[in-house]
Amino acid sequence: MLPVEIIAKKRDGLSLSRDEIEFVVAGSTSKEIPDYQIAAWLMAVVIQGMDEEETVALTRAMAESGEILDLSEVAPIVLDKHSSGGVGDKTTLTVAPLVAAAGLPVGKMSGRGLGFTGGTLDKLESFPGFQVDLERKRFLNTLRKKGIVVAGQTADLAPADAVLYALRDVTATVSSIPLIASSIMSKKIAAGGNAIVLDVKVGRGTSMQTLDEALDLARLMIGIGRRFGRRVAAVIADMSQPLGRTVGNILEVREAIDTLQGGGPEDFTEHTMAVASQMLVLGQAAEDEARARAMVHSYLEEGTGLAKLQDLVSGQGGDASFVSDPGKFPSAPVVRDIGAPRDGFIAGLDAREVGLVAVALGAGRAKKGGPVDHRVGLVLHRKVGEHVSTGDPLFSIHSLSVDDSERAEARLLEAYGWSEHEVPAPPLIHQILPWQES
Ligand code: URA
Repeated sequence: MLPVEIIAKKRDGLSLSRDEIEFVVAGSTSKEIPDYQIAAWLMAVVIQGMDEEETVALTRAMAESGEILDLSEVAPIVLDKHSSGGVGDKTTLTVAPLVAAAGLPVGKMSGRGLGFTGGTLDKLESFPGFQVDLERKRFLNTLRKKGIVVAGQTADLAPADAVLYALRDVTATVSSIPLIASSIMSKKIAAGGNAIVLDVKVGRGTSMQTLDEALDLARLMIGIGRRFGRRVAAVIADMSQPLGRTVGNILEVREAIDTLQGGGPEDFTEHTMAVASQMLVLGQAAEDEARARAMVHSYLEEGTGLAKLQDLVSGQGGDASFVSDPGKFPSAPVVRDIGAPRDGFIAGLDAREVGLVAVALGAGRAKKGGPVDHRVGLVLHRKVGEHVSTGDPLFSIHSLSVDDSERAEARLLEAYGWSEHEVPAPPLIHQILPWQES
């Protein structure tokens, strides 16, 4: 097989065989096919697309490029979730403990912040001592012992995806539904969970900009999961404005703790409910969504989810006393409250811009592998649909310096849209695609 022929075939809009796709993936990791040919092939895929058979073949080739974890030795059903990313998205911190509270093992591999979006691992590292790099044996032991583990992806998990993703990042070939679906699902399949809820976001603060795109991505990933014998459901959730009221690592951890105590913001609590209840149904702990929601509700009231967050933190070497006493978390040196510049209804709050402001404050990385400051970030006191009068608290900035804070203030004020008339809040959940036995 010649790489140039496979590139030409895809350029001309033809479907590739499983062998051809495996040849490209193997060649990308072994470096037998040079990066320029892989990049040309990726661009041909972005332009011409891939059918479901090709996407399944690509997913399989990437998943099988490394180790595929077998979690059946731990439990017959192990739950996993995936979020397509966003701003203020701390869902794993609430949902994983709530699902584990129902006795369902949650074994999850998460990522770090990317671009303007935050990452679960960075948030978890807000707990002093928390370790995200777990060897396979420790991952399995922690899952067995605590029923909950959230770790970083090991180098041996779908290594071909890492190679292809790095190239996509620098060749404008990230935004392709088949490439995104196969990239996400190859990692989910290799990570071993057999019941997976996909939290697919749509809006300015994520990569899927329209509901149709998000639905296409979700349906494709559900179809891929089915082909690998995984039960997959999807929640299509709004990301036009940030989720919850905080953006930044410690601030988000504290909001997750509040939520597990029943005192979180309404939108984030509802989002947590939606994702956790799909997981309980998928994991066969609840017969239907209504019963699952009642279970989640009781875990929030009784603090069972909070106890599981303590298990998660202590199981990975972190100081779990911060869960019961979040006042122990350090705060940023400068905290300024900013009032509304005018009267009116908030008509928009650009999630992407909020995410970029948080990164500029130091909550995310300026460059790959750089440090983050866990203390800095934003608290959004008012969101879309709410009415404010001039001077009412609009947002607070937690920063390292007054200069940083003033820069953030100017940018953030521009991220709000205003209206004199009532504006509806955007729907929180656009659609749920529940698991269906076929
Ligand atoms: N997340 C992934 O893991 N892969 C993509 O291609 C996009 C988002």
